[in-house]
Amino acid sequence: MAARRALVIGGSLGGLLAANLLRSVGWDVVVFERNPEDLTGRGAGLSTHPQLIDILRRLGIDFDESMGVRLDTFMFLDRSGKSYLEAKTVRTMSSWGRLYRSLRDPLPSQSYRLGMSLRYVEQDSAGVTAVFTDGSCVQGDLLVGADGVRSTVREQFLPDVTPNYAGYVAWRAMLDESDVPPDIRAEIFERYTFCLPEGELFLAYPVPGRNNETQVGRRAYNIVWYRPTAPDTLVDLCTDAGGRYHGTAIPPPLIRPEIVAGIKATARALIAPQAAEIFIRAEPFFQPIFDLESPQIVFGRVALLGDAAFVARPHVGAGVTKAALDAASLADAVAGEDLAAGLLQYQREQLPFGRGLVGLGRQEGAYISAQLKPRYQRTAGELKRDVNDVLLAHQLRSESLHKVLVASRRAS
Ligand SMILES: Cc1cc2nc3c(=O)[nH]c(=O)nc-3n(C[C@H](O)[C@H](O)[C@H](O)COP(=O)(O)OP(=O)(O)OC[C@H]3O[C@@H](n4cnc5c(N)ncnc54)[C@H](O)[C@@H]3O)c2cc1C
Repeated sequence: MAARRALVIGGSLGGLLAANLLRSVGWDVVVFERNPEDLTGRGAGLSTHPQLIDILRRLGIDFDESMGVRLDTFMFLDRSGKSYLEAKTVRTMSSWGRLYRSLRDPLPSQSYRLGMSLRYVEQDSAGVTAVFTDGSCVQGDLLVGADGVRSTVREQFLPDVTPNYAGYVAWRAMLDESDVPPDIRAEIFERYTFCLPEGELFLAYPVPGRNNETQVGRRAYNIVWYRPTAPDTLVDLCTDAGGRYHGTAIPPPLIRPEIVAGIKATARALIAPQAAEIFIRAEPFFQPIFDLESPQIVFGRVALLGDAAFVARPHVGAGVTKAALDAASLADAVAGEDLAAGLLQYQREQLPFGRGLVGLGRQEGAYISAQLKPRYQRTAGELKRDVNDVLLAHQLRSESLHKVLVASRRAS
């Protein structure tokens, strides 16, 4: 029997995980990515979980020390820069680029097509057709929508499902290790560092460098700072110097200079000086935080996966792990001959998992979201957050993910 063909829309980590795992169970796979150029330039730190590492190993990708920077200590700094709580942890902080390379390299070049933007999908009992904006059409047996939070595939099948703004943004910054002043580097660089300004959450940790290096001296420092931001303020943040509003995703170079100067001044006022110094030396940008839930993830021969299906707030630090678990569930479910039954099995497994993860992210972010409500409308948990709550949530992260996974498997 000729190999069945899967068309994967979206060539980021979710699409690549799906492509590699589907190939491992005998499918012929082609990935279509709308960007005309290779995506390697996207730099971002990513926390990893044992579930992701297991799936990479299943693909023959060894999670060795070149994959990330290992951390063994959490540290909480107060406003003056004094450490008031330290604890042990075991975490590996990887990067988007490092994972991308290890998943992209094993794919034959003809299986990954850049500059192909999906317009819509057609399907009947014999197969599925992807229609692209350049007018070309490609046929297959299965189409996987791994096209992210603004998924074209999801918009066609679930036009009413849209991302919910959580009421806060993540200010992000990355600085090369060599640009971190040596005294600050010695004090905080190799620790998972937290600052807790009232109503906010600031965290920072080392990640692989610009070219995925993990050697001392060539790594980078990654900062994520969650700040409540009312919807009208967000509109202002997303408006460039020429008065043009960029929706919720303004390109970082277009963020107005006074906004960047303002956030740097706020960092000096609210954050421990060592961490603020790193933030100020970097080029900060922001990402509004959204979550999204789909009531259905299979539509005939079409399946949604990764952020296209569900987006949990990033506190869970598990977007890529979720995409990997979705992709593994999908590949296992469609390995047999009955495609329709396999896809329904995928939906039964991953729908409750996605919901559970979104719930976990909301629970962790509730305190920050609630800052936009008057105090009298907040619950006890929304009024006060203890440092121990934050520490416990971080220490139990993989366990929480595992619990959601087990509960969803039981429910399916
Ligand atoms: C502040 C922040 C911190 C985070 N930290 C972590 C972390 O520590 N750990 C972690 O695991 N996750 C983290 N995440 C989440 C993680 O980045 C995402 O969950 C993950 O990248 C999802 O991958 P994806 O492939 O599903 O979607 P995406 O990465 O969004 O990829 C979708 C791809 O589809 C392409 N595409 C879109 N439309 C079309 C079309 N019509 N035709 C063809 N191609 C198309 C896009 O160009 C893109 O390449 C974080 C997210 C944020 C915002």
